[in-house]
Amino acid sequence: NKKNDPKAFISFYSEEMYQDIVRKKQIESRMQSAMDHGEFVVYFQPKVDIETNKVVAAEALVRWKDPQNGLISPGEFIPIFEKNGFLEILDMYVIDTVLTYMSSWRGKYAPISVSVNLSKTYIFQEGFAQRIYDMTQKHGIEAKYLELEITESTMLDNSERLIALIKELKSFGFLISMDDFGSGYSSLNMLKEMPIDIIKLDQVFLRSNEQTREKSKLIVEGIMDMINLLGIDSVAEGVETKDQLQLLYDVHCRIAQGFYFYKPMPISEFEKLL
Ligand code: C2E
Ligand code: MG
Ligand code: MG
Ligand code: MG
Repeated sequence: NKKNDPKAFISFYSEEMYQDIVRKKQIESRMQSAMDHGEFVVYFQPKVDIETNKVVAAEALVRWKDPQNGLISPGEFIPIFEKNGFLEILDMYVIDTVLTYMSSWRGKYAPISVSVNLSKTYIFQEGFAQRIYDMTQKHGIEAKYLELEITESTMLDNSERLIALIKELKSFGFLISMDDFGSGYSSLNMLKEMPIDIIKLDQVFLRSNEQTREKSKLIVEGIMDMINLLGIDSVAEGVETKDQLQLLYDVHCRIAQGFYFYKPMPISEFEKLL
């Protein structure tokens, strides 16, 4: 019986692990040249006001267009870059690119706020807030149009430092949102202390099946009541169906982001929407 053969077991897993390591090494050996050759591309996913159907904001999401391997998903390379330190370089590039686009929109389109994703691997560096602020100044963009998304998981182990950082970022005028809210860490108590402007409800809140539908709705309802009472704005992530949209109307969550409205799109397409 092959299944119980320890040798087969070991070689099966080591082959898979070996392939993972090779893939990871490939990504790491290519990342700098990918940056130099402009293979990192910033996509925009609109955030929609469900009452008016208007695009009210957008999130910048990075894509890697590797000429050899095709599109590589951020879900694969971001964790690698978080470990090897390259994410800071990539995220500063994304922010600079977003600000460059925003400054080219001046006088053409009404101003719109764009969010970027940050990582705990570099935000606690001395002078980080000033550095981001200097970038907005260089491009002549008011800080209030740049929204900074910090994931819920960052709040867990760094709460004291994070509160101080968020206060500093807000003093420069940036909007701060808590990304992936409810995706796995208990963040309810943190809401008391984190001076955030916006909560991005994780996709998990919209996913349910026959058995969980009723309870799922009650949970979203309760959370939205709490968020609204606290005076925090909200965005629902991962809206894919009409039923999910109906749920958002029912629970008074007004801003939605998801494939039901738009997928993340290249800049040329996004500018048509503006
Ligand atoms: P996130 O910040 O929570 O971004 C939302 C993710 O959900 C995006 O995946 C988006 O394409 C996807 N999404 C949007 N609407 C729907 C929907 O209706 N259904 C489903 N199933 N998915 C939807 P993406 O672009 O693959 O990015 C994954 C994660 O990678 C992001 O999650 C974020 O944590 C990270 N990421 C992406 N770009 C950057 C970046 O420039 N810097 C950093 N630090 N992280 C980034
Ligand atoms: Mg995000
Ligand atoms: Mg999210
Ligand atoms: Mg996410």
